[in-house]
Amino acid sequence: MSTPETPAPHPGADRRGDADPHSGSGRVYLVGAGPGDPGLLTARALELIAAADVILHDRLIPSAALDGARADAELLFVGKQGGGEAVPQEQTEALMVQRAKAGMTVVRLKGGDPFVFGRGGEEALTLRAAGIPYEVVPGITAGVAASAYAGIPVTHRGLASAVALITGHTQEGTDDSPDKDETAIDWHALAAFPGTLVFYMGVRRLGAIADSLIAAGRSAEEPVAIVERGTLPDQRTVTGTLESIAELARREDVRAPSITVVGPVTALAERLQWRAGGRQHPLSGRTVAVTRARAQASGLARRLRELGATVVQAPVIRTRPLPGPPPDLAPYDLVCFTSPNAVATLFERLSQAAHPPRDARSLAGASVAAIGPGTARALAEHGLVADIVPERSVGEALVEALAEESVAHALVVRAKQARDVLPDALRARGAQVDVLALYETIAEPLSPRALAAAREADYITFTSSSTVRFFLDAAGGPGGDGGGLSATTRIVSIGPVTSETLREHGLEPHIEADPHDIDGVIQALLADAAARTD
Ligand code: SAH
Repeated sequence: MSTPETPAPHPGADRRGDADPHSGSGRVYLVGAGPGDPGLLTARALELIAAADVILHDRLIPSAALDGARADAELLFVGKQGGGEAVPQEQTEALMVQRAKAGMTVVRLKGGDPFVFGRGGEEALTLRAAGIPYEVVPGITAGVAASAYAGIPVTHRGLASAVALITGHTQEGTDDSPDKDETAIDWHALAAFPGTLVFYMGVRRLGAIADSLIAAGRSAEEPVAIVERGTLPDQRTVTGTLESIAELARREDVRAPSITVVGPVTALAERLQWRAGGRQHPLSGRTVAVTRARAQASGLARRLRELGATVVQAPVIRTRPLPGPPPDLAPYDLVCFTSPNAVATLFERLSQAAHPPRDARSLAGASVAAIGPGTARALAEHGLVADIVPERSVGEALVEALAEESVAHALVVRAKQARDVLPDALRARGAQVDVLALYETIAEPLSPRALAAAREADYITFTSSSTVRFFLDAAGGPGGDGGGLSATTRIVSIGPVTSETLREHGLEPHIEADPHDIDGVIQALLADAAARTD
C-alpha cells in the first residue's frame, strides 16, 4: 500500500491534473458500481478500482467489483451488513478524508449511481469543505437497469414521457433501513405525475405506498412491477396492480434490494422480457466460493459467472515472487514448468536481464515441459509451444509423459513449497536436476465478510493444497470444525493431492475434479449442480 512518503500515482491526473499539487493530498473518486451485474461496471470504474490504494464500499455493489483491486489495496466495507449496524456516515466520510489526506488514492464505491439515493452529494460536499480533490464516476442506476433487465422501458412513446425516481423512505439512505413512520412525499403530486414512477427502497412499505397513490387519485388498476435483485443471476419480477401488488409481494416473499415500477410501461414486461428468470443458466442461484489467489481467480470466477453462479471471492493465498538474478538456461536440455505462475515469474526474471536482454530465446536449446494444459497456455502467451504436456495436471503425470525423453540436465521451475515427485523421478533416472524456486505462496488475509460468505456458499472450491491449509488457518485453524463450513456446503477439490490434504484436515471432499485442472473443476460443478433437485 502507498504511504504518505510514496504517494500513489493518481489515475485521474492524466485527465485532470492534480487540483492541489502542493497539499500532497490524494484524490477521492466517488464511483458508481452499477446495479449488480459486473458487466455493467463502467470502464472508468474498473480502471479506478485497479489503481486504488483504498476502496470504501457498500453492500450493494457487484460481488465481482473488487476482483480487480490490487492485492495490497485496503478494502473497507462501510455499508450495512444484513440486519446489522451501518458504519455511521460521518465515520465513512472521516475515513475517506483521512486516507486522502495521507496521500492515498481513495475509491468510494457505491451501488448504482453515487448521486442517486447514494449520499454521494453529501460526501462531495464534505470533500469540497476539506479541500480534497475528487471526481465523480456515474454508474448505472438500479431503477433504470433493473427495469431494463425485466423488459420494462421506463419511458416509451405513447405510454410514458417522463420518469420519476422516488425513495420509498423519508430519508435518503444507501441501504434498506427499517420503515420510517412518516414520509415527506407529496402523494398528490406523485399520483398526478404524467409518467413512470420508480420507487427505490421501502419494499416493506409497499402496501402504504400503493394505498397512498390510490388515495391521492392514481387508478387502483394501474400496472405495477417489482424487480427484485435486478441484473443479478437470480433476478425476479412480480407484476400486479396498485391494488394487488402488496399482497402479491407478501405471498412471493419479495425482499430487498427491489425496485417498484408504477405505470403502463410495466405491462410491456411480459412481451419484452429477454432474460428468463430463475434457473436459466446451469449454475443460476448457486453460490461458489473461490479460494485461489486473486490474481489467478479471475478466469475461474468469470467462467462460473457466465454459467450463472454467484461467485464469492475468498482468496486465502497469494504468490510473491522471490528475489534473484535472471537464470541462465543454456545448460539445460529440459525445462519443466509446474504452474502458470512459474511461467510468469520466469519471464519476469528474464526480463530483468539488461545485457544482453533475455526472452523466450533463452529456452531455444531445451525441450519445454508443462505440467498441464493451463501451464501450456501460459507458455503459449509467451510464444512457446510446450513439447510435453500431460493431460492430467499432476507431477506424476508429467513424470509419465517424460518417460520416453532422454534427459541429461533438467531444470524444474516452480514454487518454493512444492512436492518433489518430479525432481526425484528425474534424478532416479540418472538426470542431473536443478530446482529453481521463483515464488512462494503466502497467506492473504481474509475479511470476515468474505469468510462468512465462503462458509455459507453452496460450493467451496479448493484448487491446491495450499488453498486448503490457508483457508483453514484463516477460518481459525482446523480445530475439528472443518473451517466452520455450513453443513450444506459442498467441498470441491481439484484433484487427488488436494483431496488428500483436505482429508488430513478432517474434511471429506464431496466432488473431485477430473481432469485435475480448472476445466475439470467447472465440469464437476456442472455435473453436480445438474444432479441436484433443490
Ligand atoms: N445509488 C443506488 C441506489 C441506492 S439506494 C442506485 O443508483 O441504484 C438502495 C436501493 O436501490 C435498494 O433498496 C433498491 O431499491 C435499489 N437497488 C439497488 N440495487 C438493486 C438491484 N440490483 N435490484 C433492484 N433494486 C436495487
